[in-house]
Amino acid sequence: MGWFSAWRRRRALARHPISDTLWAQARAGLPILDGLSAEQDALLRERSALFLHAKTLSALPGVELDDTGRVYLAAQAQLPLLGLPELNWYQGFHEIVLYPDDFLSPQRYRDGSGVEHEWDAEHSGEAWHQGPVIMAWPGVLASGEWEAYNLVIHELAHKLDMLSGAANGLPPLHSDMRVQAWADAMQGAYNDLNAQLDANPDGETAIDPYAAENPAEFFAVTSEYFFSAPDLLVEAYPQVYAQLRLFYRQDPLARLRQASATPANANPQH
Ligand code: ZN
Repeated sequence: MGWFSAWRRRRALARHPISDTLWAQARAGLPILDGLSAEQDALLRERSALFLHAKTLSALPGVELDDTGRVYLAAQAQLPLLGLPELNWYQGFHEIVLYPDDFLSPQRYRDGSGVEHEWDAEHSGEAWHQGPVIMAWPGVLASGEWEAYNLVIHELAHKLDMLSGAANGLPPLHSDMRVQAWADAMQGAYNDLNAQLDANPDGETAIDPYAAENPAEFFAVTSEYFFSAPDLLVEAYPQVYAQLRLFYRQDPLARLRQASATPANANPQH
């Protein structure tokens, strides 16, 4: 990072800091941050401030977005990047649009015989290639717990995936990772999940069956689990957990175990 960007960064942080009170308020609704070290917590707070400086959060009518909500979203957006060097991971978009509720999105699919099918699907989030990210605000508010759901991390995982072109479940891997090892782990688990659903479409699966839609959704859903239910992911697909650990350079399972070992904070919010 050159001196100019370092200066810009200091200026942005000086002009738009996140106060102690605001950080504590946002953090109270984010049990998935429990177990972070003091240094990691400080870094997350700093990067959350820079994120809010760089991105526009546009709230549609019906969304009550206050400063706590903005920080709450930013902290979850920055959590996946916490172990990574500060490169421009969230590039190619400037805006996150917050909808008051789930929304209908037109879908199109051409089947094997060339027939085009069109329908509307209900979504709580969408990430457009070279475009904005859309999130339903209730889904954002429902994120942040150790409950195998995180809309913010899900949609932004799609953005990481898109760094190497169209979303296909293969984000740009670090030089110490092997594409083959990634592909083996992901494909094996993806096939297993699909086989389970083929055998019993209504049966219980270890992770959300939405992950079986396509490899891009598999990466987004397993990223959600990695940060919000690492125990379930590691039990179902340990190799996927291992690859995501190499990619995100974090070990949320260790944090979860540490958080469960210490008395729970009295911090219900939303
Ligand atoms: Zn998705």
